[in-house]
Amino acid sequence: MKLEALRIPAPLRGFAAGEAQVFDVTLDGDKVATIVPSASQTQARGTLLSALVEAHAHIDKNYTVQEVGAAQGNLFAAIERMEKHRAGWTGETLRLRMERALHDAWQSGTRALRTHIDWVQPEPPAALAVFEALREEWRGRIALQFVSLTPLDVFADLAAGERIAREVKRAGGVLGAFVYRNEGIVHKLGRVFDLAQQHGLGLDFHVDEGLDAEATGLRSIAQLVRARDFKLGVVCGHCCSLSMQDDAVANETLALCAGAGIHIVALPTTNLYLQGAWDRTPVPRGITRIHEAAARGLRASLATDNVQDAFYPYGSYDLVETFGLGVQMAHLAPASDWLDAITVSPAKALGLAWDGRIAPGCPADLVLLAATGEHELIGPRGRERTVIRAGRILEKSL
Ligand SMILES: [Zn+2]
Repeated sequence: MKLEALRIPAPLRGFAAGEAQVFDVTLDGDKVATIVPSASQTQARGTLLSALVEAHAHIDKNYTVQEVGAAQGNLFAAIERMEKHRAGWTGETLRLRMERALHDAWQSGTRALRTHIDWVQPEPPAALAVFEALREEWRGRIALQFVSLTPLDVFADLAAGERIAREVKRAGGVLGAFVYRNEGIVHKLGRVFDLAQQHGLGLDFHVDEGLDAEATGLRSIAQLVRARDFKLGVVCGHCCSLSMQDDAVANETLALCAGAGIHIVALPTTNLYLQGAWDRTPVPRGITRIHEAAARGLRASLATDNVQDAFYPYGSYDLVETFGLGVQMAHLAPASDWLDAITVSPAKALGLAWDGRIAPGCPADLVLLAATGEHELIGPRGRERTVIRAGRILEKSL
């Protein structure tokens, strides 16, 4: 297959481009064979990305908003509503909505997806067995990973934490926790690190998801990574309170994060919806400090988070749409220089074999966007795409 006259955004190039901006790409079987500058450098026919990587989703609770209602800016109300709803979850209903999420992500060009699974008691949740079955069924299409999502306070109970960690290890997952201004936060986080080290597990936190400047879980996590010399990978999602802290405080935390090799994931849709006032026009908008992190070499990922549930009643699994919102919310310009946020950066955060840089010999798992230039990336027409997986064009299906 030959793909002609395409822009390949700079952060996605795994080859020496020189001055060229527009390229002709040939595929051979399931690999990219050659990439050469196009004869004309002025007219592009589209933008070529590597297939997308979703760093943070919740496929166990998506598409439930009709039943639970939208929480309108109250994170803890959303947690409570989902808690009630969760009592009625069965393998059958879970499978339906989890499959729907995967289908949507697949059609949008997603090659890997990490989901958090609500895990509020020591016993594994019903969603785990469904996830494990789907991980097998979807192998070769979407590489699936899961994170246990447990309130940090549960880890105060040593036996409960041990049970969770053992089951996460058995199922090949990542250990996670919801961290927000907990009492004894350092001690409880230390327990999570103990478990990760004992069982050989990576970590992925929901941390500081609120606008309280006093929420400094991210800093505690970064300090623990360094104190423990923890090498199994740490991902921190949300980090909203960082946006509310003094520059000096926030920058010090980010320097610690960069030194600790922490991956930061920003979730523009859910944060935009949940953070900030609902009784007047919201001013602070809850996006973390993407620019300041990048200045320290820490390239954040943009991810989907919630889709049509109590936390966020809208949305889809189209990462390019999420990216468009992130671009506007955090002033990521030029936008094409930030496309690593849905490709290369999450691939690294998830530890995927291919980091998503396009080069001769890389997998022919690609997304060809209609956008012929920088400014078309944000609109619906520019987001139209052809998904190529293992060198073949993916047929659209409803
Ligand atoms: Zn989340």
